[in-house]
Amino acid sequence: MDFIKTAIEPEMLPGKAYFFIFSNNDILVKKKFNNFVSIPLIEEKSITKMELNGICFLGMYKNTPCYCAHIHPAGLPDFYKLINLRSLYGKIDNGVWIISGYARQIHGWNMNFKFCGRCGAKTERNKNEHVRVCPMCGLISYPRISPAIITAVVKGHQILLGRGVNFPNKKMFSVLAGFVEPGEALEECVKREIFEETGINVKNIQYFKSQSWPFPDSLMIGFTAEYESGEIIIDTKEIVEAAWFKAENLPVIPGKQTLAGELIEWFVLNQS
Ligand SMILES: [Zn+2]
Repeated sequence: MDFIKTAIEPEMLPGKAYFFIFSNNDILVKKKFNNFVSIPLIEEKSITKMELNGICFLGMYKNTPCYCAHIHPAGLPDFYKLINLRSLYGKIDNGVWIISGYARQIHGWNMNFKFCGRCGAKTERNKNEHVRVCPMCGLISYPRISPAIITAVVKGHQILLGRGVNFPNKKMFSVLAGFVEPGEALEECVKREIFEETGINVKNIQYFKSQSWPFPDSLMIGFTAEYESGEIIIDTKEIVEAAWFKAENLPVIPGKQTLAGELIEWFVLNQS
């Protein structure tokens, strides 16, 4: 593994470091030729000019230190631009894209947990691990991960796909997903989400695989399931449209780098 995660910053550091710098959902990248970009590799003396805040050590990538930080969009240096973290995929090395997602989650948590949720005092960062502690009441906050299920529901030679209200691409359909509620097992969540969103009951729920999804802090847990009963009745608060699709007649779907894309590909490969 080229990236070693650690919150413990070494005492002796090389002159340059990778900076994963965010502004809301965007990440700062250095412009390169042909639409390619790179994560800024910055010398220590240049850091002070960039007016970053919330700087936090993340670990070492190929023996180079990595940090996350925040920048104000009005103060971007020359040859840099902000791009949406999702659209960074394919424009940089895949390993660096995964570190970018990790950086986004640690950074978001650091920014959102500056104050204690119980007593309101300013929290303090720990130098040995990613944890914020309240000096007044002792409340401990670890980086938050929000688990969500995502499920390929299959009925014979068809897969159930829906178009979500909040999808950035208005033509795209995907397998159904939803957040796990407190007190709920993952399989119960699969049954509830599919039924709430589409009115379909499912059976034979099987674990597929999982994927970190840093938009902003999800862990996607993939399942496959079989249709059991029901007709499609969509929940219009969450879904614009849902339907059964055959492998040879799929609409616009997510890319294969996403767990949704992998689940749909699994369905297609099982049709021959
Ligand atoms: Zn407190």
